[in-house]
Amino acid sequence: MSHNSAPKTYKVKSFGCQMNVYDGERMAELLADQGMTAAPEGADADLVVLNTCHIREKAVDRVYSDIGRLKRDDGSVPLIAVAGCVAQAEGEEIMARAPSVKMVVGPQAYHRLPDMVRDAAAGRPSTDTDMPAATKFAHLPARRRTGASAFLTVQEGCDKFCTYCVVPYTRGAEVSRPYADLIDEAARLVDSGAREITLLGQNVNAWTGEDAKGRKVGLDGLIRALAALPDLARIRYTTSHPNDMTMALIEAHASVPKLMPFLHLPVQAGSDRVLKAMNRSHTVESYLRILEQVRAVRPDIALSGDFIVGFPGETDAEFDETVRLVETVGYAQCFSFKYSPRLGTPAAAMGDQIAPEVMDERLQRLQAALNRTQLAFNQASVGKSCEVLVERRGKLPGQWLGKSPWLQSVHFFADVTLGDVVDVTLIEAGPNSLSGRPTMQMVA
Ligand code: SAM
Ligand code: SF4
Repeated sequence: MSHNSAPKTYKVKSFGCQMNVYDGERMAELLADQGMTAAPEGADADLVVLNTCHIREKAVDRVYSDIGRLKRDDGSVPLIAVAGCVAQAEGEEIMARAPSVKMVVGPQAYHRLPDMVRDAAAGRPSTDTDMPAATKFAHLPARRRTGASAFLTVQEGCDKFCTYCVVPYTRGAEVSRPYADLIDEAARLVDSGAREITLLGQNVNAWTGEDAKGRKVGLDGLIRALAALPDLARIRYTTSHPNDMTMALIEAHASVPKLMPFLHLPVQAGSDRVLKAMNRSHTVESYLRILEQVRAVRPDIALSGDFIVGFPGETDAEFDETVRLVETVGYAQCFSFKYSPRLGTPAAAMGDQIAPEVMDERLQRLQAALNRTQLAFNQASVGKSCEVLVERRGKLPGQWLGKSPWLQSVHFFADVTLGDVVDVTLIEAGPNSLSGRPTMQMVA
């Protein structure tokens, strides 16, 4: 395709967090609104949007290798846009290093993508990494078709400045989307088939807004309002910060049946000295106290977290404290990462960076501990009956995959359809999924 013709097909490839998945869906909707169609799986597209993640170093390398791979056999390239946090942080460098990239658009500016595509097709490359507070949402088209489970970004940005993290620089300050907009978007998602909505934010539990009567509400208030949507079966939220975990939100886990018994509450490390150096502003004890409070109101809650191993200066003994914390909590699932120095963050300039082989060994030990707690959690679920939301077909004929209330993947054979909520007895547990047998009584 010559860059003088308008692209007819597009592909949006999202990397990294769920918020990027949400942004990727919204960009696809914008392009579809311009009359473009999604390129079929495996086919070339006229326009490719790489919606990138900047949280770890490898993610950036991956973007460059992905750009290289877009070159076709005849040497031509599609129109390439780099979006997301790498675009925000390294926009100019990308344009210089990869001349085939014609558009660089940050996470707060992607509502401008259609204009940028028009310009790029006319031979005018452009960069937009402005960070106006939350205005992009006002420019996005109404939500379209969705699966049984949908994401809804309610809050963006972060004011916490953990010393290792680029998010406050790439996503900007904490901003909450208005209550009425969120109720409206959620209703549209439900109208187009969503049975579950996961509320997203870098610090989702920092969300605040004003309800229809002008009263200040927190995330618990938003959850209660969404629970009133009759066809919405389930509500989840992620990612929460321990410091924003209010009693009202904890209490919602007891009093809102549609709020699923799952809490993703990253702790990062099990040593108070390391937490302080990370600027986490919580201690191991204050973190454990929150978990106790949640378990007191919702004893079956499944707990999840994020961990970083090999933060600068982390000693063997401090790392052992992280493993002990994992065993104490008994997480149902977790994300764990090797510390990756990010240019411009305070931790990148700290002395005593940990050797890669030490990080490797620590990550292996931590993941072994997490796998043990995850398997134990799954095994303890065997014999329980629960509702499963049917999300997709399995690999075998007649097999379906869905999620338990505790966010476990459950596979089973039944005569159901996508979006059904089915009563299932969990019969066998593996480390990453369970098999179930439906009671054949449809719940919804
Ligand atoms: N705001 C959330 C919180 O603090 O819990 C997390 C958002 S962050 C995008 C997701 C996770 O990436 C963090 O919880 C942390 O474990 C990990 N992460 C962030 N910066 C990192 C770094 N420089 N190296 C390794 N992992 C990192
Ligand atoms: Fe990053 Fe910390 Fe903000 Fe999470 S709370 S996004 S880890 S700075």
